[in-house]
Amino acid sequence: MTMPVPEPIRETSHRPPPPRVTINADVVRTQPAASSSPDQSEASGLVASATVVPKNGNAVPTLAAKGLHAYFGSHPAVRDVSVDFRDREVTAIIGPSGCGKSTLLRCLNRMHETLPATRVEGAVLFRGTDIYAREVNPIALRRHVGMVFQRPTPFPTMSIRDNVAAGLRVRDGGEPPRAQTDAIVERALRRTALWDEVKDRLKQSAVTLSGGQQQRLCVARALATEPAVLLLDEPTASLDPLSTQKIEELVYELRSEVTLIIVTHNMQQAARVSDRTAFLLAGELVEISPTSELFTAPSDPRTEAYITGRFG
Ligand code: ADP
Repeated sequence: MTMPVPEPIRETSHRPPPPRVTINADVVRTQPAASSSPDQSEASGLVASATVVPKNGNAVPTLAAKGLHAYFGSHPAVRDVSVDFRDREVTAIIGPSGCGKSTLLRCLNRMHETLPATRVEGAVLFRGTDIYAREVNPIALRRHVGMVFQRPTPFPTMSIRDNVAAGLRVRDGGEPPRAQTDAIVERALRRTALWDEVKDRLKQSAVTLSGGQQQRLCVARALATEPAVLLLDEPTASLDPLSTQKIEELVYELRSEVTLIIVTHNMQQAARVSDRTAFLLAGELVEISPTSELFTAPSDPRTEAYITGRFG
């Protein structure tokens, strides 16, 4: 089977790499990045495309966490989580409030480190490459592993079109020519079933859209860079039932093209949209199973106690 060759997520040698920022408990430390040539990076095995299908024929999952711990100061919010997120499936992450769902999700595209006094241990592998390796550029990574937040976050001063195109500006080589950008914007808006609603008002401000439309716009913005993985952090928490249904339908449909991971406090939503569900408790992954199995015959008594409403 031939696999598409992904755009690399590491820095290239065309310009000196910026200093890597290590966020370590209360200390922010910068280290000069080692200069690396593509050949050196190839040799270190950090080239994403080189590790998609190893010689034993077992495909590497698009995204996996290995022994992942995440801290706020000295408080461990995620504890020793190892999980493979299967390609082109929806994985739901459920668990009681404060159990570390959002933190786990934010570790998967290095958003956790954008908060003060945070630290991550262990590895997150994107196509076999550790995203915490020093060669990896987190901004490039986030084009491959996109994210949608709890509340819609359109750029308020930008038009609908420019919101969708915003992620294209930070690509290597900058934003594509206008006609190409227009085509990418249209495709992203069609994928989120928003095109017919906004095609005549692309130049209007994004804040003129309803909350549900704004959230679909944010999904379109994330899709415009053709990510392999989309992380959704309670994407319907602020939406009315009809808008929630549209987002759920979208998540369900997108899984034929993208690997999706959705954090939700709503077990019915997890049951509706996901193929597999992970149950998290006090930062630990209790179990991950096919969704129908987890909700009918969970393997761990703590999962059963949670889904039957005995706590949470
Ligand atoms: P969930 O998404 O399951 O509700 P979170 O990942 O938001 O849980 O939080 C996990 C733990 O980390 C909780 O104990 C929470 O209080 C703590 N936490 C979350 N965000 C912060 C923050 N910005 N600063 C300090 N602690 C935080």
